[in-house]
Amino acid sequence: MTVETQKNLIAQSVKNLPSIGLKKAAALAGVGVETIGDLFYYFPRKYLDRSSVVPIGKLQDGQEATVFAQIKNMGIKKGRRNRFYLVLADDTGYLTCVWFSRLFYWDKLFKAGEWLAVSGKITLFGGPQLVHPEFDRISESGGGELLNTGKIIPLYPSGEALARVGLDSRGFRRLLHRALQEYRISIPEILPQEIRDRHHLLPLPEALYAVHFPADYDLLEKARHRLAFDEFFFVELLIAHRKKKDTEAVNGISFTRVGQQVRTLVEQLPFELTAGQKRVLHEIRADMKSDKPMNRLLQGDVGSGKTVVAMIAILIAVENDYQAVLMAPTEILAEQHYLTLRQSLESVGVRTVLLIGGQTKRVREEILAEIETGAAQVVVGTHALIQENVRYRRLGLVIIDEQHRFGVMQRALLREKGMNPDVLVMTATPIPRTLSLTLYGDLDVSILDELPGGRKPIKTAWRSSSKRAAVYSFVRKQVMEGSQAFIVFPLVEESEKLDLKAAVDSYEIMQKTFFSQQKLGLLHGRMKCDEKEQVMRAFKRGDLSILVSTTVIEVGVDVPNATVMVIEHAERFGLTQLHQLRGRVGRGSQQSYCILIAYGQLNDEARKRLDTMAATTDGFEIAQVDLELRGPGEFFGVRQHGFPQFRMADVVRDVQLLRLCRDEAFRLVEQDPQLRDEAHLPLHRFFAGYFKEYAREMVWMA
Ligand code: ADP
Ligand code: MG
Repeated sequence: MTVETQKNLIAQSVKNLPSIGLKKAAALAGVGVETIGDLFYYFPRKYLDRSSVVPIGKLQDGQEATVFAQIKNMGIKKGRRNRFYLVLADDTGYLTCVWFSRLFYWDKLFKAGEWLAVSGKITLFGGPQLVHPEFDRISESGGGELLNTGKIIPLYPSGEALARVGLDSRGFRRLLHRALQEYRISIPEILPQEIRDRHHLLPLPEALYAVHFPADYDLLEKARHRLAFDEFFFVELLIAHRKKKDTEAVNGISFTRVGQQVRTLVEQLPFELTAGQKRVLHEIRADMKSDKPMNRLLQGDVGSGKTVVAMIAILIAVENDYQAVLMAPTEILAEQHYLTLRQSLESVGVRTVLLIGGQTKRVREEILAEIETGAAQVVVGTHALIQENVRYRRLGLVIIDEQHRFGVMQRALLREKGMNPDVLVMTATPIPRTLSLTLYGDLDVSILDELPGGRKPIKTAWRSSSKRAAVYSFVRKQVMEGSQAFIVFPLVEESEKLDLKAAVDSYEIMQKTFFSQQKLGLLHGRMKCDEKEQVMRAFKRGDLSILVSTTVIEVGVDVPNATVMVIEHAERFGLTQLHQLRGRVGRGSQQSYCILIAYGQLNDEARKRLDTMAATTDGFEIAQVDLELRGPGEFFGVRQHGFPQFRMADVVRDVQLLRLCRDEAFRLVEQDPQLRDEAHLPLHRFFAGYFKEYAREMVWMA
């Protein structure tokens, strides 16, 4: 069979399967399954076998367990609360399952004699009970034999819409079993033989069969490994591609001059550049000099001194008669950067402007005009800087201070606008290796791995809210000795009004009680631009000793005399955010402190976050724990950016595998950039379908 006909067979709509009518097809489309091929990639959510189920006789109170048993009895019971119950039995005893809602639905769904796998938290209530358990229907009869023969039974993700048309776990099992029987031989292999051999990978048809119906766990593991390999490999292929395209674009800018202004600026700095800063600047300098567009990621922990590096790169661009842009994730951070940059850049005669949302129309128009004529040499703002109708005279350098919020898409956007400036992305917190190899895999990386000398590690502790008064007397003592402090309150979009009120109220109360002798300032996102600026200035000058704020100060605020950071409701913050906030202190030579105040009953995850903060100040370590706790999707808001999700590959664990895949992908793109070789055609085809969102980029390949 040729590749072409094979492809057509599994690219057929699921409607071509005999058991699939319009209703089922619609329900499947709702979970992204449209073709027979899609169906094969609808993976089980877990597997059931003898080793994973607990006999009813062995159940204990409070245990999370999966039980495999047959329905003996069922019905609706009226009472103080009406309920639907099932009585299940295995060889060792009876288990009752109870539902308090949708009684008639359940009553119709189940049949006596059916075998079910039920999971949940057991309560011993007379006998063992499960309330609202998760369940899978295994079969009408003979379910016991299924397990007793040592079979591994796949359990599928389902939901109401699917279950209503018969596609619960059992329905999927049947459907997949039949579809695989018939179409397994039509699944084309997509990886070149050479790569499969090198890494001992199962052929794709075998892997896809085994992931649904594994003969044993060994085979299941091999199947997963093969599919995980594919996931990483495709992503790295995309990245290898991008990188190749970038290095082949020769229409970048060559910044040849480094002159008096840079020298003056460096001389004016109140400190020596660290060895790390010099090394990183050297790398950036080389990129800027080359006529290929720079695409570099600058990773450095909070406080490692990235701003100075950015400033020098900006000045190099300006000295070569180009404009430079610094893009920050929030307006307040843009303002901060603006204040810092302007101070230093003006002293060497460079005109710096700020462009953000809160400005009046007149100011805005003046600034836009300055940008267009080139009078404004450096522009600081948010991502609106490249999205809106801002016209540059000669844009040469874009620095993106990313702080986990911008996606990979910014660079693509610049290109689309026909600009090809050098791009430097700075991350405010370290990124675990696997993520930097995927998300930022096409960037060259510079790492600032040391903090400027003379810094003492920040002492961190967390306290329960009952100790709040003690925490604040500690703060008062520090402040009376001449230090400054931050007190931060959480503010999230969903509860913005309440959060804001809590922060403002606390500020007022604190000013009257704990800190009646101190000068407090208040800072939050709802204040006007110039109000915020005034407060920040007063704090920087030392006129205010304590700054009460919402998370607006998360990044970029730089007041070396501030040595105490108190974070209220620390249990509500993510790890990265806590680490960022803590980075606002410990910037001078004084000992600094960070105290996290937690409220209420803490869940395990919150406790782990707080313990991690207290245990380490190493940003890489914190990022790794964060990734483990939250998973990659949340970690970066990756999902929002249309970045492919890994279902088989584990971004936390599979670093080794990722490296292998990366090497293979880069090698392949080197060999056959457009995947034109006969042996690479199936891959080429699959790849283009896999990354639908990147279709525009793929044009290059076609
Ligand atoms: P971040 O990497 O978090 O953006 P910053 O650029 O804000 O860090 O720098 C943190 C602090 O360290 C600032 O107060 C900055 O002036 C100071 N700093 C930067 N480089 C040095 C250096 N080489 N020696 C001493 N202090 C430095
Ligand atoms: Mg910074």
